[in-house]
Order: sequence, then C-alpha cells, then structure tokens
Amino acid sequence: MQYFIQTFGCQANKADSERIAGMLEARGMSPAKTIDEADHIVINTCMIRESAENRVYGLVNNLAKRKLSAKGRWASGPKIVVTGCMIGMAVRDKTGKFFQKIREAMPDVDEFLPIEEVGFDNAPIRTNQIHAWVPISNGCNNFCTFCVVPFTRGREISRSFHEILHEIEHLVRNRFTEVTLVGQNVNSYGADLVLGKDNVQVMRDLDAGTYFDTKKLDLPESVKTVVPYEGYRLPNGIKVTPVYVKHLGRLRIPTLFPYLLDEICKIESLEKVDFISSNPWDFTDELIEVIKKNKKIVRHLHFALQSGDNEVLKRMNRWYTREEYLNLVNKIRHEIPKITFSTDIIVGFCGETDEQFANTVELVKQIDFTKAYISMYSDRPVTAAHKVYQDNISHKVKKQRWKILDDLINQKNLQAGTYTVDQYSSKRAFMPA
Ligand code: SF4
Repeated sequence: MQYFIQTFGCQANKADSERIAGMLEARGMSPAKTIDEADHIVINTCMIRESAENRVYGLVNNLAKRKLSAKGRWASGPKIVVTGCMIGMAVRDKTGKFFQKIREAMPDVDEFLPIEEVGFDNAPIRTNQIHAWVPISNGCNNFCTFCVVPFTRGREISRSFHEILHEIEHLVRNRFTEVTLVGQNVNSYGADLVLGKDNVQVMRDLDAGTYFDTKKLDLPESVKTVVPYEGYRLPNGIKVTPVYVKHLGRLRIPTLFPYLLDEICKIESLEKVDFISSNPWDFTDELIEVIKKNKKIVRHLHFALQSGDNEVLKRMNRWYTREEYLNLVNKIRHEIPKITFSTDIIVGFCGETDEQFANTVELVKQIDFTKAYISMYSDRPVTAAHKVYQDNISHKVKKQRWKILDDLINQKNLQAGTYTVDQYSSKRAFMPA
C-alpha cells in the first residue's frame, strides 16, 4: 500500500502530516511519489480562510471524479481520508451542522480522521535530515474574534516537558542540528501543565487567586489566597513557582516556555533553535533573558501584530495596544541587538476605516519588519467577528490595503535584500497568532 499526504495550511499542519506519515508507515505503508500512484490519500485541511476550505472541496471532488471515470487501481480506490482543521471544527461543533455540511460537500470521502487520533506514539517521518519541526502545544485559548483556530484545534494543550526534550535529544542523536518549536502560542507553552490545588489543572486566565500565594503581590482586594502554590518541577529538578502577573488587565500564570527553551539550548550538538508563533502577550522579561543568553536561538522573531489601531485590536480581542506592542519590540531590540521581526497583519477587518488602516501603516513604518504575512480579512463561521460584526470592507479596498503593506514591507525588503527568507519553506502559510 502506498500513501500520499496533501497538506494545506501552516507549519502546525505540516508537522501533523509528518506524524500522520509515521502512523501510516507503522502500519506497513510506504510513500507514493505522486498522488496518482497512491492507494491511500490523506488530505490535511486548513480553514483559516474560505479560499483554503474551497481548495479542499475542489481537490476531493476532483479525486472523486477521477476515481469514477478511471479503470484499474483507481476504479476501486484509492481510499480518501480527510483530516486537519475542518475535521477539528466538525467534531467540536455540537450541533453537527458542520459535519453535515462537509459530508454533503465531499460524499466520496472514506474517512474523516480527527487529528487527535494520530497522537504522538509514532515517530514522525521527516524529509529534511537537518532540521525538524517539533510541536510543543496544540490549540488556542485566546479567541481572537476573527480566528477559527480555537474551534478547529480546540483548547491549548501542551505536550509534556520531558516528551519534548526526549524527542529533541533523539533527533540530535540522529544528526539533526536544528529545530523549530511549533504551536499556535509557543510562548504560552506549559500554562496548562501547571497544577493547582489537588493537582487540578489551573485555567490560563484566572479570575481569582485560588491556588497562589498572593501575599507578596499587588492584587485587587477581590483576589484571595486560598492555598499557596506548590510549584512545578522541571526535569532538572528545579522547582518553578509561578506568580501572578497582571498582563494587560488580566491575571495570568507565567508560562514554562522560557524554561523549556533554556533546557533545549543545553542539548549538546544542537546548533539552532527557532519557534513559531509567538504572541505579544506572555512575552516576558524572563523569555527575553533566555533568548539573550542563548546564542543558539535564532535572532529573528515572528510576532503577530494583526492591526496597528487600538480600536481594531480591541474588536479583534487582541490584548495589547499599539503602544504596548511597540514598547515590547523596542525592549527586545534594546536587549538583543540585531534581532529582526516578521509579522502577520489582517487588512480590511470588519469596520476598519481609512484612518485605522493608516495607523497600521504608521506603526509598520516605525517597526520596520523584514517580512509580513498580510491577509485580507476572511469571514469565518462560528467566530465572534462573524456573529457580531459585518464583513463590510469591499474586496477592492482590502486589496488596495494589502498592496500598500506588501509594498511597504515585503517589496521594500526584497529590493533591499533584507527580506526574511524561510529556510525550510519558501512560502510559509499564514500562521495565526
Ligand atoms: S489568532 Fe492566534 S492567538 Fe488568536 S485565536 Fe487564532 S491561534 Fe489563537
């Protein structure tokens, strides 16, 4: 049996496809050179934009047509399996309507496979022999109003600290020298691993100080100390005692990402460590310090901005202001000279005025990104923006704004030779963050 995997979307999906390949090879299958030679076709889907979803329908229906009109092996097969974000959305939609929609749109699919069923039990099949994508967490709790990820991938779940370290040590033993840690919010890594009272997982956003020693902290009266926190023990025995941080008006638990990154950098023979995607929130001083002291960490950050206008950011449910974003970039630049930044920006979000877009342009000029993944806003079902706002910016205006930013960031850097080239994928798809 030969398999072929067609992957749509971001690096997280590409890393998932490597695990799917591992699972199929563990069952005795081997990779087909082309989709036409495969007996087993897996389509790993993305639905970040409507166009991505439509491409999946197009591919599946083309395969089905060829299957119907072909003779020989294609007449009885191949098996078509659909997985990824569309299936994630379908299994989480309690009404069952989305499942019904995709079943009707793709009646020839043989199996809908939730990515959770693939798991981490089989070693991923990697095509690159030097560099590996290593997932450290999956899902997102942030619910930016435009984004389907919390619905397609579910709540943020971190892989265990030990498991990640073991995987990287194993890679290094097999002569890999570079890793990129992957997650929707890498710098929130581990918040869900932190246990509170009675070893119960603590929610990421706290509304009360139930599990922490708040005596030393400047917290509102309403927050009461109930049980002092016992700490989280890292593999090296160090005990991390989280403290409350008041981050942009929310009480949040510091994450384990700086510790993870620091431990990974200690692995001998590992030469380069990178990560995507990181967010302005949870980018702590501690994390900046870890990057600063570890030269193995790539001096380039992908840092999603989405908009440079405070009102738009608020409507997007992004928890920072343009001033806070800029301050953070300046702070990182001050601490880590020569660091460069790339970003994600959405143009034409619901109700974005010319003036609000001009604020994004102005901020982009100040920051001087080396690359930007610019998306025209695409209305996605189930998101808060879909329910509450109107997708009222015309395609023409979205395109004009897209071009202005593309010229200002990507074309300018291409001409100057300072465009950030992704070493392992020439076209990194939009990685929401
Ligand atoms: S844009 Fe990023 S942070 Fe926001 S909900 Fe989507 S995945 Fe989460």
